[in-house]
Amino acid sequence: MSTQYVYYFGDGEADGNTTMKSLLGGKGANLAEMVRIALPVPAGFTLTTEVCTYYYANGRTFPPELKQQVIDSLKKVEKSMGAEFGCSTNPLLFSCRSGARESMPGMMDTVLNIGLNDTTVVALAKQTGNERSAWDSYRRFVQMYGDVVLELKPKDKTEGDPFEVALEHKREKEGVAEDSGLSVAALKELVAEFKLLIKTRAGKDFPTDPMEQVWGAIGAVFGSWMNDRAMVYRRTYGIPHEWGTAANVQAMVFGNLGDDCATGVGLTRDCALGTPGFCGDYLINAQGEDVVAGIRTPKRIEETLAQDMPESFAQLNEIGKKLEKHYKEVQDIEFTIQRGKVYMLQTRNAKRTGFAAVRIAVDLVNEGLITEVEALQKRRIPADDLNQLLQPIFDPAAKAAATKEGRFLAKGINAGPGAASGVICLFADEAEKFHEKNPTIDIILVRKETSPEDLRGMKAAKGILTATGGASSHAALVSRQMGKACIVGCSAIDVDYTACTVKVAGKTLKAGDFISMDGFTGEVFEGKVATKDSEVIQVLVQKTLKPEESETYKRYSQLMSWVDKHRTLQVRTNADTPGQATEAVAFGAEGIGLCRTEHMFFDHLDEIRHMIVCETKDSREEALAKLLPFQREDFAGLFRSMNGRPVTIRLLDPPLHEFLSDRHLEEQPDLGPKLAAWTGSSLDAVKRRVAELHEANPMLGHRGCRLGIVYPEITAMQARAIFEAAVMVKKEGINVVPEVMVPLAGFLAEFKHQEKIIRAAAELVFSETGVTLEYLVGTMIEVPRAAVRADQIATAAEFFSFGTNDLTQTTLAISRDDYGPFIGFYREHDIIANDPFQTIDQEGVGDIMRIGVERGRSTRKDLKIGICGEHGGDPASVMFCHEIGLTYVSCSPRRVPVAKLAAAQAALAAK
Ligand code: PEP
Ligand code: MG
Repeated sequence: MSTQYVYYFGDGEADGNTTMKSLLGGKGANLAEMVRIALPVPAGFTLTTEVCTYYYANGRTFPPELKQQVIDSLKKVEKSMGAEFGCSTNPLLFSCRSGARESMPGMMDTVLNIGLNDTTVVALAKQTGNERSAWDSYRRFVQMYGDVVLELKPKDKTEGDPFEVALEHKREKEGVAEDSGLSVAALKELVAEFKLLIKTRAGKDFPTDPMEQVWGAIGAVFGSWMNDRAMVYRRTYGIPHEWGTAANVQAMVFGNLGDDCATGVGLTRDCALGTPGFCGDYLINAQGEDVVAGIRTPKRIEETLAQDMPESFAQLNEIGKKLEKHYKEVQDIEFTIQRGKVYMLQTRNAKRTGFAAVRIAVDLVNEGLITEVEALQKRRIPADDLNQLLQPIFDPAAKAAATKEGRFLAKGINAGPGAASGVICLFADEAEKFHEKNPTIDIILVRKETSPEDLRGMKAAKGILTATGGASSHAALVSRQMGKACIVGCSAIDVDYTACTVKVAGKTLKAGDFISMDGFTGEVFEGKVATKDSEVIQVLVQKTLKPEESETYKRYSQLMSWVDKHRTLQVRTNADTPGQATEAVAFGAEGIGLCRTEHMFFDHLDEIRHMIVCETKDSREEALAKLLPFQREDFAGLFRSMNGRPVTIRLLDPPLHEFLSDRHLEEQPDLGPKLAAWTGSSLDAVKRRVAELHEANPMLGHRGCRLGIVYPEITAMQARAIFEAAVMVKKEGINVVPEVMVPLAGFLAEFKHQEKIIRAAAELVFSETGVTLEYLVGTMIEVPRAAVRADQIATAAEFFSFGTNDLTQTTLAISRDDYGPFIGFYREHDIIANDPFQTIDQEGVGDIMRIGVERGRSTRKDLKIGICGEHGGDPASVMFCHEIGLTYVSCSPRRVPVAKLAAAQAALAAK
């Protein structure tokens, strides 16, 4: 039997179902499922993702058997709908929409009203008794066909869309504000003008044959899988290019037949903040794309639909409840109301902000719809999104002051929570370029509306503000998903792309001026507004808010209690100061996985520089003795903050010239003479010593344990400071568990050399004080040799910690400091899927780690193994660490909640 490329749905019968997303795409699979659960869905058929992969593998051609399968399904739809495609008396019209496995909102193309031509439009007018809507549909079709299939775009960024410009002229001529006010005669003129536009710009006639139209639309939809914005989107969200999209051809229902008709998109609960209740956008007497494109600002379902169309509102609520119960998840739907009856055109799990994700998951558990294990699913709360709960909000006092100063500008729809201040940028490409040049200056992208073309600029922006559009417009959907602050439908702003200005509240702001936007409330301010910590931070870290006073915190805390119940991987923190340690503990850190001792020297630079210029062991020891009390105090502070939790302290790691180099001598003219005086030598001697320290390749030079081996007195001082501090704090009644860690070892001999000094220091301190305590001596695994010979190293090392920053650098031979110039190019060209310094390169570095774990534990069965490279806070990497059996991950304090959630998700996924 030949491959089934086309799947039919309609009349309670469907070839597919919701589990078939890889073949039918999300939209196709859910249309089939909705038919199966008896929801009102116009009949249609889905061309599978295999058609798409065939299309690209075979020079953009279709499988030979496709044609007949499409014809057969088309006949079934005709039968179901009681109308005929291309018929001059009873015409059936189709839509053709993309639908990938993962939804990619607005990234690919859609064509509506396929089948209209000069003959069928007359029949449609007769049949519906509505000449205006028939011609309105026709002009939309010609416009969409021109735009999507024939790719007629503006010539440059200041030219408007040619079809929209013609529409605007027509509206002006007729003196109407909205398209729905255009007369039949005007619509007829527009159809003729659009056809002429196509002829002159595309050099071909608009096709009148319905079959040619449908194949044109199918080709355009499959073609749009490889457009730039879709590719950028897939790279951003890790969707493989090989998946391909499906295409759905579905009978049209009309939202534009009159005032008892409408089109809309809805959410079964709010997805910006997660508030329960059906909500969304609708437009009376209009077609679907008007809502999604953000061209007209729609009405809110929850505000006015009950008055405008009470029966349809009731149907919609019923459908919403049925969907949530069936899918156990918030749904994002598209619907059309034709003569009062609701038809479903799409349902999918709704995209949401991190705020909404947490609230919805917790609420669904509390409502009994899902279990706490389901609430923790990665697809419900991507671990990274938890970060949004920790982001700053505007300080209410600063906002009030800004209002008093007359800086309040306007209020729009609060579509993406978050507070953002930045410079105005009106064009997406300029935002992208500006961000590349000035990564530290935040950008607010201000547009009349955004379209999928603007994706790159949206990525670069901190916040997005649009004059039109509703909470379901493209700008809103995409920015919510990106976790950006977003305000849409801010109709008070007047964006002038030619003058590069934004007029609002009687003021004219220019591109480059600062504005601030509050995505929680929809308010826009001139200039900068100070931010304040999020409620979760206020409760946990600042302790300025009581837990019971914050609903956001209460939900966060409920979620984290489930997280802690289900994860097995421990989560520690990378912290060098008591403040950081305390903050991390507030977020639930279970220990310190990495204290970089060199950071503690930053407050004592002169002392360490003195040590560095010393030429003899004796003089170095003398200089080190001055550093010892500082280190001891710092360690004691850490031990106190961690209150009995394990603390891993790493010995000095960076090359010495980071503390003292030519640059330092140049920038601080008194430094050289001062060091010469301290060491009793000359300025020339100091300069000579500094020159000796210079390295061509410092990352691979005299650093890590190599320092402690060549200058053992450094290790001795640090070890002594650690144990003296431990004893001191133990005497205060606090339990202390120091874990001393050797950096960058590759040979067992290197480790043993350092271990001996550390243990000797411990013994000395214990005998001097008469206090003993448990401690461990372990090593970082940061060079491939250490992983490969982990069996040998584990004979002496009592724990391992993967330093994946260096391990990535040394495995890939990519300098962690110098990869910027090419990594962007590599990502753009799909040479590597992720930045390996952010997400572990599982096949390469990850395999080396696996070897390290296996071989280390072949010697020492219960070897404690962690990770303390930056990857320890990256959800995908955390999941990998769980998979290879690490004991803990260690990350920066504010990543602790994210890492914990990822750890729970990994544990549950493995079950
Ligand atoms: C590492 O290399 O992963 C690590 C944690 O050490 P550092 O970043 O200090 O080199
Ligand atoms: Mg390192």
